[in-house]
Amino acid sequence: MAVVGVLALQGSYNEHMSGTPNLLLFSRFSRVSATCSLVIPSGSVWAALRRIGVKGVEVRKPEQLQGLDSLIIPGGESTTMAKLANYHNLFPALREFVGAGKPVWGTCAGLIFLANKAVGQKLGGQELVGGLDCTVHRNFFGSQLQSFETELSVPMLADKEGGSNTCRGVFIRAPAILEVGSDVEILAECPVPSGRPSITIPSAEGVEEEVYTKDRVIVAVRQGNILATAFHPELTSDCRWHRFFLDMDKESHPKAFSALSLSSSS
Ligand code: GLN
Repeated sequence: MAVVGVLALQGSYNEHMSGTPNLLLFSRFSRVSATCSLVIPSGSVWAALRRIGVKGVEVRKPEQLQGLDSLIIPGGESTTMAKLANYHNLFPALREFVGAGKPVWGTCAGLIFLANKAVGQKLGGQELVGGLDCTVHRNFFGSQLQSFETELSVPMLADKEGGSNTCRGVFIRAPAILEVGSDVEILAECPVPSGRPSITIPSAEGVEEEVYTKDRVIVAVRQGNILATAFHPELTSDCRWHRFFLDMDKESHPKAFSALSLSSSS
C-alpha cells in the first residue's frame, strides 16, 4: 500500500490524514469565520487521505521520511514550522526527499516551505526547503482577518470526478505566487480581492518597493514532483486534489499502488 507522509510539526496535518480537527487551526479559523462568514465544513467531511483509502503517516523526525512514497507539507505558520524543523534537523532530509523526485505537496505554509524564494517576511525571513522555482509572498492576501473562500477555476480538475472544473478555495492568511520559472505549470489563479491591503515587494535591487498591480495571482502550481497550493483543499469535502497528488505518486511509484484499491466515495 502507498504510504503518504504528512509533516506533523504544526498546522493542519490532522485534516490531511485522520480527520480529527486540529484545535489550534480550527479555533483561529472559527474566529475569522465569525467576522467573514466563512463556511467551516463539519469534522465529518475532513480526513482526506483516509477517505481515498491511503495510509497517512505523521513525520516529525528525519528518519521517519525513510520508506515514504510521498509527502504532504501542510498549512499552518511557516516561521513556527521552520523553527521546529530546524530543532529536529529536518531540513537536509526534506531537501533530499524533494531532490529524490518523490512527490511532495505543500499547502499554504507548505507552499512557502517549498518555494525557492519567499518575500513578505519580517525579521529577516526563515529557512526554506526550496525546490519549487517560484517567488512566493507569505501573506499576499493580508492578515488572518482577510481570510476568505472563493470558487477557483482549475481546468485540470475537469478530468476528475464529476467533471467540474472549479473547486472551493479556502484561503487562510494565505500566501500567493508572484512569479514562476519556465518549468512550472500554473494550475490555478485567483482574482485579487478588491479589499485586500496593498503589499510591498522588494525590487530586483532589493531597495525600491512596488505594489502588486495585476488583477489575478497564481495560487496553485506543479513542477515535476512538486505540487503546491496556496489554499487548503483538506478543509473541504472535495478529495480531487488529494487524488491528483496520489496520481503523481502513482506515476513515480507504480509498485506501491499495486495493492491499493481506491474507494470512490468522496
Ligand atoms: N501566511 C502563513 C505563513 O506565513 C501561512 C498560512 C497558512 O498556512 N494558512 O506561514
